[in-house]
Amino acid sequence: MKKAFIVETSEAGSSARAGLIQTPHGAIPTPAFAPVASQGSVKGLTHDQVSALGAHLILCNSYHLFLRPGAEAVRAMGGLHAFISWPKPILTDSGGFQIYSLGPLARVRRDGVAFASHLDGSKLFLTPEDVLGIQLLLGSDIMMVLDHFVPFASPEAKVGDAVETTIRWAGRARDAFLKQETNAHLWAITQGGVVPDLRRRCTEELTAMDFDGYAIGGLGIGEAKAQLHETLEQSDALLPKNKPRYLMGMGYLADILEAVDRGVDLFDCVLPTRNARNGSLFTLQGIVTIKNKKYADDLRPVDETCNCPTCRRYSRAYLRHLYERKEITSAVLNTIHNLHFYLDFFAKMRQSIQSHSFQRFKLNLMNMLKEVNR
Ligand SMILES: [Zn+2]
Repeated sequence: MKKAFIVETSEAGSSARAGLIQTPHGAIPTPAFAPVASQGSVKGLTHDQVSALGAHLILCNSYHLFLRPGAEAVRAMGGLHAFISWPKPILTDSGGFQIYSLGPLARVRRDGVAFASHLDGSKLFLTPEDVLGIQLLLGSDIMMVLDHFVPFASPEAKVGDAVETTIRWAGRARDAFLKQETNAHLWAITQGGVVPDLRRRCTEELTAMDFDGYAIGGLGIGEAKAQLHETLEQSDALLPKNKPRYLMGMGYLADILEAVDRGVDLFDCVLPTRNARNGSLFTLQGIVTIKNKKYADDLRPVDETCNCPTCRRYSRAYLRHLYERKEITSAVLNTIHNLHFYLDFFAKMRQSIQSHSFQRFKLNLMNMLKEVNR
């Protein structure tokens, strides 16, 4: 399938849109949520389960797979789709965020980023071309360019430097990508923090390079909601309408609704899967903390309105018992519920855009979430 992004429906009075991202391994209906499979596995679930829950893509982590088992090794085993036996689209991140998370172990140079492996401390250096090369070896459908991420509230000069590095590296990744014969996507990541002039410069320079999609980077890391919304609105105005937009790592429903309203199409987050393993189960009536003693003889499902395989069959009492006894099945059943909750939310949000009722959907959800947090 040729790569493209088709906007099917857009909403009057909002930038929300329903679309289809076409990739070599199938189409992704948007707005979409990518379950996180850093090591090539959504923790706790088989790929059949992930697929049956309605996931159209997963996010794998370039940095982790580059270290172990190695990009060349994955390539030798037929590429990432074959190796992990997931036939649908795979998005790989650039690994940049993981590298910068190493803190003092990572140092940005003109040509790339030097860092020490978190496994054995071995010294590594990756250029934008190397990061692209890793993702090409993995055989990802949507590849992300290496960007320069700086923490929130960094001095403006530092944010400005990061913007210049991001632009330079994106150009190099794009030049290397254009020499490849592939239908995969290459997406750029805009930076600039919450400084409008810097965000504008970065977004304009990157859109001029005509990438297949754009992540709005450097957000969700401590800025005020108003700053987040303003940056999303600015990005919405500057980014081309016919390319998908991706907000990385943003997982709270209220943030997702506000972002979709401002034209974002794709999200990923560890929240549903990580919280499931911690026994925090999502419902629109609030979080069910399954370890609570009050559930010890509660024969109701986690959520009486939920149609997931866990809620159809098992009680809160049983799920609490599994959690308390540290049974592996606890993580499995909890993850099924939380992932269903997210994927079902996205499916309903998409339907609301298609039926031109997104604003009502958003308002209803926001009121429910407010009620829950009261
Ligand atoms: Zn459920």
